Amino acid sequence: MDAVTVVGGGIAGLALAARLDPRRFRVTIHERREELPPVETSLAMWPEAQQALDALGILPAARAAGSRFGGMALRDGAGNVFLQGQAPGVIGVSRADLLRLLDAAVPASVARAYGPVRSLPVAELVAGADGVHSLVRRAVWGERSRARLSPYLALRGIIDEPVPPDAGGEYWGRGQLFGITPASRNRTYWYASYRSDLGPGGIDVEGALAVTRARFSGSAPGIAGVLMLAAPGQTLAQRIWTAPPLRRYAREGAVLLGDAAHGMTPNLGRGAGEALIDAVTLADLLNSRPPAEALQTYSRRRVLRTQVLRAASSAMTRLALADRAQPLRDGLLGLAGPRKRSAAVGR
Ligand SMILES: Cc1cc2nc3c(=O)[nH]c(=O)nc-3n(C[C@H](O)[C@H](O)[C@H](O)COP(=O)(O)OP(=O)(O)OC[C@H]3O[C@@H](n4cnc5c(N)ncnc54)[C@H](O)[C@@H]3O)c2cc1C
Repeated sequence: MDAVTVVGGGIAGLALAARLDPRRFRVTIHERREELPPVETSLAMWPEAQQALDALGILPAARAAGSRFGGMALRDGAGNVFLQGQAPGVIGVSRADLLRLLDAAVPASVARAYGPVRSLPVAELVAGADGVHSLVRRAVWGERSRARLSPYLALRGIIDEPVPPDAGGEYWGRGQLFGITPASRNRTYWYASYRSDLGPGGIDVEGALAVTRARFSGSAPGIAGVLMLAAPGQTLAQRIWTAPPLRRYAREGAVLLGDAAHGMTPNLGRGAGEALIDAVTLADLLNSRPPAEALQTYSRRRVLRTQVLRAASSAMTRLALADRAQPLRDGLLGLAGPRKRSAAVGR
């Protein structure tokens, strides 16, 4: 095999193209968009994802562009701290910076085609790196593998101010969560999630922000402060979709990676990191083994871990967004230690 067609030039697709041996493969990437995403968001990169960035030769640049997570507090909706933990070695990298770095790592020999792919390309190997709504997955794994709509809405964005003192962490309220973390260039990345009937397509960001401000109006002051500064042009609002569980990521002539293989809810902050690990694992196997063996081994190595993460992420979503079970959840979390009153509460 020497021709590889990659559908999707996002995180997974660019990383795969960057790592495949150009002396061995003729690679073409098909990407719908010519521009970087217009709204900046931040991605948590755990140590394993950073190993993949290292293999791609872009770890130092990603570290230089990113921000350290440092301590992370888990709080109740009012801001009182349930648990205070460290997230050693985790960095936050802006999606746009990551895409730029991956793009620059792709060898010049890789062909690029822009515009949406509308039917399964004919090639010796088609790599579906086309996200949670993957056309490759639906074409090869069947229509029953189409993405599933979750009942949750996610909003996220960057504000041009540092994290307010004693406001960082994740807030678990009743049926809603809010996160505040440092972003690159001394800014703040925030995200919010709750059940919503908005969308799934064409969500009006300004309206969604207004709903979010109203929902969180009685919450911790740190949240209100961040939401006050959130601008529609710097905010993304979308319903969360997930991929169905799969037992294999490779079938004759086709392979899935990233969200196309295991699109999960964002609550563990793992999707992008796992997409990078998929890409490096798959490329290294294709570079060194016969194609059929490489695809089988890739699937074996990646399915269990990513499907466990997918399930764990869904469980975390239900816990973080617990509604009627919220008092029980908070009571159990309280057993981990008495809740520490936040200095920001009641200010
Ligand atoms: C609210 C939220 C917060 C998140 N936070 C984190 C986090 O902190 N850390 C983390 O690791 N992950 C996070 N994730 C998950 C992360 O965004 C995804 O796992 C990651 O983007 C997957 O990368 P991918 O390349 O597989 O897919 P995508 O990023 O979806 O890229 C797919 C690419 O394929 C292209 N494409 C799709 N269909 C076609 C087609 N038919 N023809 C041509 N091109 C096509 C698209 O334009 C896109 O560029 C979050 C996700 C959400 C929704």
